[in-house]
Amino acid sequence: MKLIILGPPGSGKGTISELLEKEFGWFHLSAGAVLREEVEKGTSLGKEIKKCIEKGKLVPNQLVTEIVKIELGDKKSFILDGFPRTVQQAENIQDLPVDKIILLDLAEKIVVKRLSGRRKCPKGHGYHLVYLPPKKKGICNVDGLPLSRRADDNPDVVKERFKIYKKQTAPVAEYYKKKKKLIIVDSAGTPEEVYGRVKRVLKN
Ligand code: AMP
Repeated sequence: MKLIILGPPGSGKGTISELLEKEFGWFHLSAGAVLREEVEKGTSLGKEIKKCIEKGKLVPNQLVTEIVKIELGDKKSFILDGFPRTVQQAENIQDLPVDKIILLDLAEKIVVKRLSGRRKCPKGHGYHLVYLPPKKKGICNVDGLPLSRRADDNPDVVKERFKIYKKQTAPVAEYYKKKKKLIIVDSAGTPEEVYGRVKRVLKN
């Protein structure tokens, strides 16, 4: 399966992708996670990327496209999470064969609530204080590392990220809708509920 998952910040793209990867073994490529890894390396490229992420702005199209293409290689199955985020990025990968494009649809007020409770371990395993709590408070179930909140999940940056989503990423959904490729899935509810909906549309 070659899959693209679109949706506003906090719509569950990462959570749903992780569940799909775990169940089906499809390669999960989170554009945000790859960019954060580059920031961690502290390279000059990483420093440029950091400036964008901290402000909630998008990293330049060409740069993200190149990074994503390198990471994807010639994988037989993949889940693209958080890419494309602009029409230009969608056009950059128009030759890439994709089976399904899913939009996880979620209202802004739920986004803010979800992101404020979101936690991650340093290796990227995701949790939520209310919807997906770890077994032991503040500790990752998988590797026992401490959980923390992403710097760009603070309310001011979240507002900016949602603004950018509406302006730059919502048109990507329109782009695929016009091509009759878009499947819209309601992303309200628990991860299990949303995952169930996603699996149903993947079967069709
Ligand atoms: P995410 O982990 O998907 O929420 O992404 C975190 C941040 O990484 C975003 O707010 C952007 O600054 C950057 N980012 C992730 N994906 C992209 C993309 N496709 N294009 C440009 N910037 C991106």
